[in-house]
Amino acid sequence: MFFSFDGIDGVGKSTQIDLFCQWMRAQGRTVTQCRDPGSTPLGERIRDLLLTHDDSVSIHRRSEMLLYMAARAQLVEEIIRPALDRGEVVISDRYLLANIVYQGHAGQLPLEQVRTVGQVTIDGVAPDAVFVLDMSVGAADARMARELDRMEEQGAEFRRRLREGYLAEAAVDPAIHVIDASRSIDEVHESIADIAAKLVSSRE
Ligand code: ADP
Repeated sequence: MFFSFDGIDGVGKSTQIDLFCQWMRAQGRTVTQCRDPGSTPLGERIRDLLLTHDDSVSIHRRSEMLLYMAARAQLVEEIIRPALDRGEVVISDRYLLANIVYQGHAGQLPLEQVRTVGQVTIDGVAPDAVFVLDMSVGAADARMARELDRMEEQGAEFRRRLREGYLAEAAVDPAIHVIDASRSIDEVHESIADIAAKLVSSRE
């Protein structure tokens, strides 16, 4: 089965992914963990391009979207599809939804364009469940004490549009589960594990 985690930065995504992977492994499952963009040699190089500050490299929104998509296509073919074929559980830090929300809802690209390229990119490999960790932008900001990367530096208004984008996508896609991330680490984890456990047992 394939699970992905998404949401604005600072909501506790990395924390919850770690717990979720441990929980899955404790049940005897083989877990393949990955991050999008990244996890393949090509994907990690694209990730560097996208997230490091370099004033000499300008990246248009459309180029940015396509770079994310290229990294993802490689991730699907090199890691996710083979792991699923081996019967493993795949857990990804972000996936196509992030592109739809960052470049479509919050960026300036037409949503339909991002969706269409997205379908070509994933080539049928979609998550069984996407956990969107959701909390107010202000509260997420307060949790983020580290230095911001290029994507995170886009301001509070952009982050509010991201949050609205995630909620709008969740309203039309039953695979997307909005999780109240303002609660304690354990409470958030339990909500996610409950949903996953039901999904796993319904498939077995
Ligand atoms: P993200 O990966 O979404 O940016 P992190 O998992 O790195 O978020 O968490 C950001 C910060 O908030 C970390 O210092 C983490 O320990 C803390 N944190 C995560 N989840 C919670 C929570 N439920 N309650 C309080 N603090 C949290």
